[in-house]
Amino acid sequence: LVERMRAFGTTIFTEMSALALRTGSINLGQGFPDTDGPREMLDAVARSGPANQYPPLYGIPALRTAITGHERRFWGLERDPESEVVVTAGATEAVAAAILGLCEYGDEVVCFEPYYDSYAASITLAGAVRRPVTLRPGPDGRYRFDEGELRAAFGPRTRLVLLNSPHNPTGKVFTRAELALIAELCQAHDTYAVTDEVYEHLVFADAPERHTPLAALPGMLERTLRISSAGKTFSCTGWKVGWATGPAALVSAVARVKQFLTFVNAGPLQPAVAVALDLPDAYFTEFRAGLQARRDRLVTGLTEAGFTVLPSEGTYFVTTDITPLSDRGGADFCRELPARCGVVAVPTEVFYDHPEEGRHLIRFAFCKREEVIEEAAQRLSKLK
Ligand code: PMP
Ligand code: GLN
Repeated sequence: LVERMRAFGTTIFTEMSALALRTGSINLGQGFPDTDGPREMLDAVARSGPANQYPPLYGIPALRTAITGHERRFWGLERDPESEVVVTAGATEAVAAAILGLCEYGDEVVCFEPYYDSYAASITLAGAVRRPVTLRPGPDGRYRFDEGELRAAFGPRTRLVLLNSPHNPTGKVFTRAELALIAELCQAHDTYAVTDEVYEHLVFADAPERHTPLAALPGMLERTLRISSAGKTFSCTGWKVGWATGPAALVSAVARVKQFLTFVNAGPLQPAVAVALDLPDAYFTEFRAGLQARRDRLVTGLTEAGFTVLPSEGTYFVTTDITPLSDRGGADFCRELPARCGVVAVPTEVFYDHPEEGRHLIRFAFCKREEVIEEAAQRLSKLK
Protein backbone atom coordinates (compact mmCIF):
# COMPACT_ATOMS: atom_id res chain seq x y z
CA LEU A 1 0.00 0.00 0.00
CA VAL A 2 1.34 3.45 -0.90
CA GLU A 3 2.62 5.60 1.92
CA ARG A 4 0.00 8.33 1.53
CA MET A 5 -2.90 5.86 1.97
CA ARG A 6 -1.52 4.19 5.10
CA ALA A 7 -3.38 6.51 7.46
CA PHE A 8 -6.69 5.35 5.96
CA GLY A 9 -7.88 2.08 7.48
CA THR A 10 -11.22 0.37 6.94
CA THR A 11 -14.02 2.95 6.87
CA ILE A 12 -16.03 3.37 10.04
CA PHE A 13 -19.17 2.42 8.08
CA THR A 14 -17.79 -1.00 7.16
CA GLU A 15 -16.53 -1.56 10.72
CA MET A 16 -19.80 -0.57 12.37
CA SER A 17 -22.08 -2.41 9.93
CA ALA A 18 -20.02 -5.57 10.54
CA LEU A 19 -20.37 -5.03 14.29
CA ALA A 20 -24.15 -4.72 13.89
CA LEU A 21 -24.31 -7.97 11.92
CA ARG A 22 -22.04 -9.84 14.33
CA THR A 23 -23.99 -8.76 17.41
CA GLY A 24 -27.47 -8.82 15.83
CA SER A 25 -27.88 -5.15 16.75
CA ILE A 26 -30.07 -2.50 15.17
CA ASN A 27 -27.79 -0.66 12.76
CA LEU A 28 -28.19 3.09 13.22
CA GLY A 29 -24.58 3.54 12.11
CA GLN A 30 -24.13 3.50 8.34
CA GLY A 31 -26.68 5.77 6.67
CA PHE A 32 -28.84 3.67 4.36
CA PRO A 33 -32.64 3.29 4.31
CA ASP A 34 -34.29 -0.07 5.02
CA THR A 35 -37.17 0.47 2.58
CA ASP A 36 -37.22 0.77 -1.19
CA GLY A 37 -37.56 3.98 -3.14
CA PRO A 38 -40.54 5.16 -5.23
CA ARG A 39 -42.51 2.50 -7.10
CA GLU A 40 -42.32 4.48 -10.39
CA MET A 41 -38.51 4.31 -10.24
CA LEU A 42 -38.41 0.58 -9.46
CA ASP A 43 -40.94 -0.18 -12.22
CA ALA A 44 -38.80 1.79 -14.67
CA VAL A 45 -35.83 -0.51 -14.01
CA ALA A 46 -37.96 -3.54 -14.76
CA ARG A 47 -39.14 -1.83 -17.97
CA SER A 48 -35.80 -0.40 -19.04
CA GLY A 49 -35.29 -3.02 -21.76
CA PRO A 50 -32.00 -3.41 -23.57
CA ALA A 51 -29.90 -0.97 -21.55
CA ASN A 52 -27.13 -3.39 -20.73
CA GLN A 53 -24.21 -1.91 -22.65
CA TYR A 54 -22.00 1.10 -21.99
CA PRO A 55 -23.98 4.32 -21.70
CA PRO A 56 -22.40 7.57 -23.01
CA LEU A 57 -19.54 9.01 -20.92
CA TYR A 58 -21.64 11.97 -19.77
CA GLY A 59 -24.72 9.80 -19.06
CA ILE A 60 -27.79 9.04 -21.17
CA PRO A 61 -29.53 12.15 -22.57
CA ALA A 62 -32.80 11.44 -20.71
CA LEU A 63 -30.99 11.46 -17.37
CA ARG A 64 -28.95 14.57 -18.16
CA THR A 65 -32.15 16.39 -19.11
CA ALA A 66 -33.88 15.18 -15.95
CA ILE A 67 -30.94 16.39 -13.81
CA THR A 68 -30.99 19.90 -15.30
CA GLY A 69 -34.82 19.98 -15.16
CA HIS A 70 -34.72 19.03 -11.47
CA GLU A 71 -32.15 21.75 -10.71
CA ARG A 72 -34.30 24.31 -12.48
CA ARG A 73 -37.52 23.19 -10.73
CA PHE A 74 -36.16 23.13 -7.19
CA TRP A 75 -33.27 25.60 -7.20
CA GLY A 76 -33.76 27.88 -10.20
CA LEU A 77 -30.39 26.88 -11.67
CA GLU A 78 -29.90 26.89 -15.45
CA ARG A 79 -27.46 24.36 -16.87
CA ASP A 80 -27.06 22.97 -20.36
CA PRO A 81 -27.78 19.21 -20.42
CA GLU A 82 -25.35 18.80 -23.34
CA SER A 83 -22.19 20.15 -21.72
CA GLU A 84 -22.84 21.04 -18.08
CA VAL A 85 -23.79 17.68 -16.54
CA VAL A 86 -21.90 14.44 -16.04
CA VAL A 87 -23.30 11.27 -14.46
CA THR A 88 -20.96 9.54 -11.99
CA ALA A 89 -20.73 6.39 -9.86
CA GLY A 90 -22.38 8.06 -6.88
CA ALA A 91 -21.47 11.39 -5.33
CA THR A 92 -18.31 9.68 -4.06
CA GLU A 93 -16.85 9.34 -7.54
CA ALA A 94 -17.93 12.88 -8.43
CA VAL A 95 -16.09 14.28 -5.39
CA ALA A 96 -12.98 12.20 -6.13
CA ALA A 97 -12.92 13.05 -9.85
CA ALA A 98 -13.50 16.75 -9.11
CA ILE A 99 -10.54 16.93 -6.75
CA LEU A 100 -8.31 14.81 -8.98
CA GLY A 101 -9.31 16.87 -12.00
CA LEU A 102 -8.96 20.32 -10.45
CA CYS A 103 -6.09 20.19 -7.94
CA GLU A 104 -2.38 20.27 -8.70
CA TYR A 105 -0.04 18.61 -6.18
CA GLY A 106 0.19 20.87 -3.15
CA ASP A 107 -2.99 22.83 -3.90
CA GLU A 108 -5.15 23.46 -0.87
CA VAL A 109 -8.76 22.45 -0.35
CA VAL A 110 -10.76 24.35 2.26
CA CYS A 111 -13.29 22.04 3.91
CA PHE A 112 -15.32 21.86 7.11
CA GLU A 113 -14.71 19.26 9.80
CA PRO A 114 -16.28 16.92 10.73
CA TYR A 115 -16.48 15.79 7.08
CA TYR A 116 -17.68 12.78 5.12
CA ASP A 117 -14.72 10.41 5.24
CA SER A 118 -14.07 10.11 1.50
CA TYR A 119 -13.06 13.79 1.34
CA ALA A 120 -9.78 13.34 3.20
CA ALA A 121 -8.90 10.27 1.13
CA SER A 122 -9.70 11.93 -2.20
CA ILE A 123 -7.73 15.06 -1.31
CA THR A 124 -4.79 12.87 -0.28
CA LEU A 125 -4.98 10.74 -3.44
CA ALA A 126 -4.79 13.94 -5.49
CA GLY A 127 -1.66 15.04 -3.60
CA ALA A 128 -3.59 18.10 -2.40
CA VAL A 129 -3.69 19.45 1.15
CA ARG A 130 -6.79 19.92 3.27
CA ARG A 131 -7.42 23.07 5.27
CA PRO A 132 -10.24 22.10 7.62
CA VAL A 133 -12.37 24.69 9.40
CA THR A 134 -14.01 23.28 12.52
CA LEU A 135 -17.78 23.26 13.02
CA ARG A 136 -18.60 23.51 16.73
CA PRO A 137 -21.97 23.43 18.50
CA GLY A 138 -22.92 26.85 19.90
CA PRO A 139 -24.84 27.42 23.17
CA ASP A 140 -28.10 26.49 21.37
CA GLY A 141 -26.52 23.25 20.07
CA ARG A 142 -26.48 24.51 16.46
CA TYR A 143 -23.17 24.06 14.66
CA ARG A 144 -21.22 27.15 13.61
CA PHE A 145 -17.78 28.01 12.32
CA ASP A 146 -15.60 30.93 13.27
CA GLU A 147 -15.44 33.57 10.55
CA GLY A 148 -11.80 34.36 11.31
CA GLU A 149 -10.90 30.68 11.03
CA LEU A 150 -12.56 30.45 7.62
CA ARG A 151 -10.87 33.63 6.36
CA ALA A 152 -7.50 32.33 7.59
CA ALA A 153 -7.98 29.00 5.79
CA PHE A 154 -7.96 30.74 2.40
CA GLY A 155 -4.55 31.60 0.93
CA PRO A 156 -2.52 31.75 -2.28
CA ARG A 157 -2.57 27.93 -2.72
CA THR A 158 -6.34 27.55 -2.24
CA ARG A 159 -7.77 25.82 -5.27
CA LEU A 160 -11.27 25.11 -4.10
CA VAL A 161 -13.64 24.97 -1.17
CA LEU A 162 -15.45 21.68 -0.64
CA LEU A 163 -18.80 22.29 1.05
CA ASN A 164 -21.37 19.75 2.19
CA SER A 165 -24.81 21.16 3.04
CA PRO A 166 -27.11 19.74 4.39
CA HIS A 167 -24.18 18.40 6.35
CA ASN A 168 -23.21 14.85 7.27
CA PRO A 169 -22.61 13.99 10.14
CA THR A 170 -23.96 17.04 12.03
CA GLY A 171 -27.35 17.57 10.35
CA LYS A 172 -26.43 21.25 9.95
CA VAL A 173 -27.93 23.29 7.11
CA PHE A 174 -25.61 26.17 6.20
CA THR A 175 -27.40 29.52 6.47
CA ARG A 176 -27.69 32.15 3.72
CA ALA A 177 -25.31 34.37 5.70
CA GLU A 178 -22.72 31.58 5.98
CA LEU A 179 -23.04 30.79 2.27
CA ALA A 180 -22.64 34.49 1.42
CA LEU A 181 -19.36 34.60 3.36
CA ILE A 182 -18.09 31.46 1.60
CA ALA A 183 -19.10 32.97 -1.77
CA GLU A 184 -17.33 36.23 -0.93
CA LEU A 185 -14.10 34.37 -0.09
CA CYS A 186 -14.27 32.17 -3.21
CA GLN A 187 -14.55 35.29 -5.34
CA ALA A 188 -11.93 37.29 -3.43
CA HIS A 189 -9.42 34.42 -3.80
CA ASP A 190 -10.64 33.35 -7.25
CA THR A 191 -11.23 29.73 -6.22
CA TYR A 192 -13.72 27.09 -7.27
CA ALA A 193 -16.42 25.65 -5.05
CA VAL A 194 -17.38 21.99 -5.07
CA THR A 195 -20.65 21.40 -3.25
CA ASP A 196 -21.90 18.04 -2.04
CA GLU A 197 -25.69 18.33 -1.83
CA VAL A 198 -26.73 14.68 -1.59
CA TYR A 199 -29.19 15.65 1.20
CA GLU A 200 -30.64 18.59 -0.80
CA HIS A 201 -34.24 17.42 -0.24
CA LEU A 202 -33.80 16.44 3.40
CA VAL A 203 -34.22 19.70 5.31
CA PHE A 204 -36.90 19.46 7.98
CA ALA A 205 -39.86 21.81 8.38
CA ASP A 206 -38.57 23.10 11.73
CA ALA A 207 -35.10 24.03 10.40
CA PRO A 208 -34.47 27.77 10.61
CA GLU A 209 -33.71 28.04 6.89
CA ARG A 210 -34.40 26.12 3.67
CA HIS A 211 -31.56 24.61 1.64
CA THR A 212 -29.86 27.00 -0.77
CA PRO A 213 -27.27 25.72 -3.25
CA LEU A 214 -24.09 27.81 -3.14
CA ALA A 215 -24.31 27.95 -6.96
CA ALA A 216 -27.50 30.04 -6.62
CA LEU A 217 -25.65 32.94 -4.95
CA PRO A 218 -24.53 35.90 -7.08
CA GLY A 219 -21.27 35.22 -8.89
CA MET A 220 -21.20 31.52 -7.96
CA LEU A 221 -22.91 29.75 -10.90
CA GLU A 222 -19.76 30.18 -12.98
CA ARG A 223 -17.36 28.79 -10.37
CA THR A 224 -19.35 26.03 -8.63
CA LEU A 225 -19.47 22.34 -9.36
CA ARG A 226 -22.63 21.01 -7.71
CA ILE A 227 -22.71 17.32 -6.82
CA SER A 228 -25.68 15.19 -5.85
CA SER A 229 -26.86 11.61 -6.03
CA ALA A 230 -30.00 9.50 -6.29
CA GLY A 231 -29.06 7.38 -3.28
CA LYS A 232 -30.39 9.54 -0.46
CA THR A 233 -33.39 11.17 -2.16
CA PHE A 234 -34.74 7.95 -3.65
CA SER A 235 -33.58 5.37 -1.07
CA CYS A 236 -31.29 3.53 -3.46
CA THR A 237 -27.81 3.96 -1.96
CA GLY A 238 -26.61 0.75 -3.61
CA TRP A 239 -27.28 2.03 -7.12
CA LYS A 240 -24.45 4.56 -6.95
CA VAL A 241 -25.91 6.97 -9.46
CA GLY A 242 -24.61 10.48 -8.86
CA TRP A 243 -23.85 13.54 -10.93
CA ALA A 244 -22.01 16.82 -11.12
CA THR A 245 -23.32 19.98 -12.76
CA GLY A 246 -21.39 23.16 -13.40
CA PRO A 247 -19.66 25.26 -16.02
CA ALA A 248 -18.58 23.12 -18.98
CA ALA A 249 -14.88 23.47 -18.11
CA LEU A 250 -15.39 22.07 -14.60
CA VAL A 251 -17.69 19.30 -15.77
CA SER A 252 -15.22 18.27 -18.45
CA ALA A 253 -12.45 18.14 -15.82
CA VAL A 254 -14.59 15.63 -13.88
CA ALA A 255 -15.36 13.63 -17.03
CA ARG A 256 -11.67 13.57 -18.05
CA VAL A 257 -10.82 11.80 -14.79
CA LYS A 258 -13.98 9.71 -14.59
CA GLN A 259 -13.26 8.04 -17.92
CA PHE A 260 -10.20 6.44 -16.32
CA LEU A 261 -11.79 5.60 -12.97
CA THR A 262 -14.95 3.81 -14.09
CA PHE A 263 -15.40 5.07 -17.68
CA VAL A 264 -19.20 4.89 -17.31
CA ASN A 265 -21.63 3.36 -14.81
CA ALA A 266 -25.15 2.16 -14.06
CA GLY A 267 -26.47 1.88 -17.63
CA PRO A 268 -29.61 -0.07 -16.69
CA LEU A 269 -30.38 2.27 -13.77
CA GLN A 270 -29.95 5.63 -15.47
CA PRO A 271 -33.41 5.69 -17.16
CA ALA A 272 -35.06 4.93 -13.81
CA VAL A 273 -33.27 7.77 -12.02
CA ALA A 274 -34.50 10.09 -14.78
CA VAL A 275 -38.07 8.97 -13.95
CA ALA A 276 -37.49 9.56 -10.22
CA LEU A 277 -36.11 13.08 -10.72
CA ASP A 278 -39.30 13.97 -12.62
CA LEU A 279 -41.66 12.79 -9.84
CA PRO A 280 -44.17 15.40 -8.62
CA ASP A 281 -43.23 17.67 -5.70
CA ALA A 282 -45.44 15.57 -3.40
CA TYR A 283 -42.94 12.70 -3.46
CA PHE A 284 -40.15 14.90 -2.14
CA THR A 285 -42.36 16.55 0.50
CA GLU A 286 -43.77 13.28 1.80
CA PHE A 287 -40.39 11.55 1.96
CA ARG A 288 -39.01 14.42 4.02
CA ALA A 289 -42.04 14.54 6.34
CA GLY A 290 -41.86 10.79 6.99
CA LEU A 291 -38.20 11.05 7.81
CA GLN A 292 -38.83 13.97 10.17
CA ALA A 293 -41.37 11.89 12.13
CA ARG A 294 -38.78 9.14 12.58
CA ARG A 295 -36.17 11.68 13.59
CA ASP A 296 -38.55 12.97 16.26
CA ARG A 297 -39.23 9.48 17.65
CA LEU A 298 -35.51 8.70 17.87
CA VAL A 299 -34.72 12.09 19.43
CA THR A 300 -37.31 11.46 22.15
CA GLY A 301 -35.75 8.08 22.87
CA LEU A 302 -32.22 9.47 22.95
CA THR A 303 -33.25 12.30 25.27
CA GLU A 304 -34.99 9.84 27.63
CA ALA A 305 -31.87 7.68 27.57
CA GLY A 306 -29.85 10.63 28.90
CA PHE A 307 -27.97 11.83 25.81
CA THR A 308 -27.67 15.54 25.07
CA VAL A 309 -29.23 15.68 21.62
CA LEU A 310 -28.01 18.36 19.20
CA PRO A 311 -30.56 19.75 16.71
CA SER A 312 -30.80 17.85 13.41
CA GLU A 313 -31.97 20.32 10.76
CA GLY A 314 -31.58 17.92 7.85
CA THR A 315 -29.97 14.70 6.45
CA TYR A 316 -30.45 11.17 7.79
CA PHE A 317 -28.54 11.91 11.00
CA VAL A 318 -28.66 13.26 14.53
CA THR A 319 -25.60 13.91 16.70
CA THR A 320 -25.61 13.37 20.45
CA ASP A 321 -23.21 14.35 23.20
CA ILE A 322 -22.46 11.33 25.41
CA THR A 323 -20.94 13.35 28.27
CA PRO A 324 -23.94 12.83 30.60
CA LEU A 325 -23.59 9.05 30.13
CA SER A 326 -19.86 8.45 29.93
CA ASP A 327 -16.49 10.06 30.39
CA ARG A 328 -14.95 7.79 27.75
CA GLY A 329 -14.58 8.70 24.10
CA GLY A 330 -17.25 8.12 21.46
CA ALA A 331 -15.25 5.36 19.74
CA ASP A 332 -15.14 3.21 22.90
CA PHE A 333 -18.74 4.07 23.68
CA CYS A 334 -19.89 2.94 20.21
CA ARG A 335 -17.91 -0.31 20.40
CA GLU A 336 -19.61 -1.14 23.72
CA LEU A 337 -23.11 0.02 22.79
CA PRO A 338 -24.18 -3.23 21.03
CA ALA A 339 -23.39 -5.31 24.13
CA ARG A 340 -25.11 -2.79 26.42
CA CYS A 341 -28.33 -2.35 24.45
CA GLY A 342 -28.18 -3.86 20.94
CA VAL A 343 -27.86 -0.61 18.96
CA VAL A 344 -25.03 0.54 16.69
CA ALA A 345 -24.04 4.20 16.20
CA VAL A 346 -20.98 5.90 14.71
CA PRO A 347 -18.36 7.92 16.63
CA THR A 348 -18.06 11.39 15.16
CA GLU A 349 -14.37 11.75 16.04
CA VAL A 350 -13.33 9.75 12.97
CA PHE A 351 -14.57 12.60 10.74
CA TYR A 352 -12.10 15.17 12.06
CA ASP A 353 -8.49 16.20 11.52
CA HIS A 354 -8.73 17.30 15.16
CA PRO A 355 -10.53 14.31 16.73
CA GLU A 356 -10.50 15.93 20.18
CA GLU A 357 -13.18 18.31 18.82
CA GLY A 358 -15.61 15.41 18.42
CA ARG A 359 -14.45 12.94 21.06
CA HIS A 360 -17.69 13.12 23.05
CA LEU A 361 -20.03 13.06 20.05
CA ILE A 362 -21.72 10.12 18.32
CA ARG A 363 -24.06 9.99 15.32
CA PHE A 364 -27.29 8.02 14.94
CA ALA A 365 -29.05 7.43 11.59
CA PHE A 366 -32.87 7.58 11.61
CA CYS A 367 -33.51 6.54 7.95
CA LYS A 368 -35.11 3.29 9.15
CA ARG A 369 -38.68 1.98 9.34
CA GLU A 370 -40.87 3.35 12.14
CA GLU A 371 -40.94 0.04 14.00
CA VAL A 372 -37.15 -0.24 13.84
CA ILE A 373 -36.74 3.27 15.27
CA GLU A 374 -39.33 2.43 17.95
CA GLU A 375 -37.45 -0.74 18.95
CA ALA A 376 -34.09 1.13 18.95
CA ALA A 377 -35.54 3.88 21.15
CA GLN A 378 -36.81 1.27 23.62
CA ARG A 379 -33.49 -0.53 23.70
CA LEU A 380 -31.63 2.73 24.26
CA SER A 381 -33.90 3.58 27.19
CA LYS A 382 -32.33 0.63 29.07
CA LEU A 383 -28.97 2.36 29.06
CA LYS A 384 -29.57 4.40 32.20
N1 PMP B 1 -21.50 12.75 0.45
C1 PMP B 1 -22.10 12.66 1.64
C2 PMP B 1 -22.15 13.85 2.51
C3 PMP B 1 -22.65 11.44 2.05
O1 PMP B 1 -23.22 11.34 3.24
C4 PMP B 1 -22.58 10.34 1.19
C5 PMP B 1 -23.08 8.98 1.55
N2 PMP B 1 -23.92 8.73 2.19
C6 PMP B 1 -21.98 10.49 -0.04
C7 PMP B 1 -21.42 11.69 -0.37
C8 PMP B 1 -21.85 9.35 -0.99
O2 PMP B 1 -22.89 9.31 -1.87
P1 PMP B 1 -22.94 8.13 -2.97
O3 PMP B 1 -23.42 6.92 -2.27
O4 PMP B 1 -23.90 8.67 -3.97
O5 PMP B 1 -21.57 7.97 -3.50
N1 GLN C 1 -22.86 8.16 3.62
C1 GLN C 1 -23.23 7.09 4.49
C2 GLN C 1 -23.06 7.54 5.92
O1 GLN C 1 -22.55 8.59 6.19
C3 GLN C 1 -22.44 5.85 4.30
C4 GLN C 1 -21.59 5.79 3.10
C5 GLN C 1 -20.58 4.66 3.19
O2 GLN C 1 -20.86 3.63 3.76
N2 GLN C 1 -19.45 4.90 2.66
O3 GLN C 1 -23.44 6.80 6.78
